[in-house]
Amino acid sequence: MKKLLMIPGPIEFDNDVLAAMGKQSLSHVSPEFIDIFADALDMMKKVWMCPGGQPFIMAGSGTLAMDMAGANLVEKKDKVLVVSTGYFGERYARLLERYGADIRILQAAPGETVPVESIERELRIGKYKILTFTHVDTSTAVKVEPEPLGQLGLKYDVITVLDGVCSVAGEEIRQEEWGIDIVLTASQKAIGVPPGLALLVASERAMEKFSKRRNNVLNYYADWANWLPVMQAYEQRKPAYFGTPAVNLVNALNISLGQILSEGLERRFERHRRTGKAFRSAIKALGLTQIPEDKYAANTLSAPYYPSGVQPIEFLQAVNKAGVILAGGLHPALKNEYFRVGHMGKITPSEVITTISAIETALKKCNYKFDDGIGIIAARDILK
Ligand code: PMP
Repeated sequence: MKKLLMIPGPIEFDNDVLAAMGKQSLSHVSPEFIDIFADALDMMKKVWMCPGGQPFIMAGSGTLAMDMAGANLVEKKDKVLVVSTGYFGERYARLLERYGADIRILQAAPGETVPVESIERELRIGKYKILTFTHVDTSTAVKVEPEPLGQLGLKYDVITVLDGVCSVAGEEIRQEEWGIDIVLTASQKAIGVPPGLALLVASERAMEKFSKRRNNVLNYYADWANWLPVMQAYEQRKPAYFGTPAVNLVNALNISLGQILSEGLERRFERHRRTGKAFRSAIKALGLTQIPEDKYAANTLSAPYYPSGVQPIEFLQAVNKAGVILAGGLHPALKNEYFRVGHMGKITPSEVITTISAIETALKKCNYKFDDGIGIIAARDILK
């Protein structure tokens, strides 16, 4: 039996996207592939809402996209402020240390964000070059509002890096309007393509900072000096080579970005908002709480605590038996206290209902008491 994959990436993928993966591989310098790549780069600028940005498509996971921003923008002793709202903020700090950054972490308690005033206070006194933050931290389901941080970046001449692995093409992002220098992501979440692509759009300001580096980039594979001429050549519909692109994944990306744009970004953001709200409402109706308060809660995933007496393994196995795959906890401090439901990309109302129904079946199996169907009704009221 096919099970519904409702983890926060990889997600359920569209059949046309999957079919694109299965086509015979094209030569990466063929006119046909050059057009596919060029169109994907062009569509990225639209999806990121960054018409003046420089897009990059690389073979690799989201961590490579994080690494690419770090390797190309950070030099030894550069001051970096990392806003951490969970596991992936922490990862960014560890990654940037490798490039010799002088790092300060502003750490939020699980479920909370760092107040904008605290970030501004630090930027005012700190002479920072870079500010990183995680738009949606997949370990806590906490969402950080990017716009005020983009504005702070402009005010204090600090390059802003948004880790959008769990948000791009799901949560609202207006990169250029909000003044965010780097928006990075991976293919396997709301972008809707199987794992394997690292995606990033850099602002003109970020590319200018890169061009003024004092030293060579320490990471050979991620060095923009190698990749920028390749991206520019493809944009001009000319062949180029540095490392062989993941041609089948790029083909799938081209299809998925086309689907995202034909749905329309505003409609897509709204659909994710509604889906997020439906899950939150169902969780509440079932008497469960989740890690973030509603005001900080992401729309791309939810992170509910297990009710007391419900054992993680028993619950997740029962959900699986009911036909849905969910994820366990990830935040080291709370790992066994909560589970995660990914709800992004092409997810439909019927998939939302199926997932909540499987959660209800599993809770029942774990002897948790609630009114049958109450979560489903709560979600349905929002989705109708
Ligand atoms: N940042 C965030 C917010 C993520 O959710 C993830 C993956 N779950 C990553 C970075 C790392 O991406 P990947 O696993 O594709 O390397």
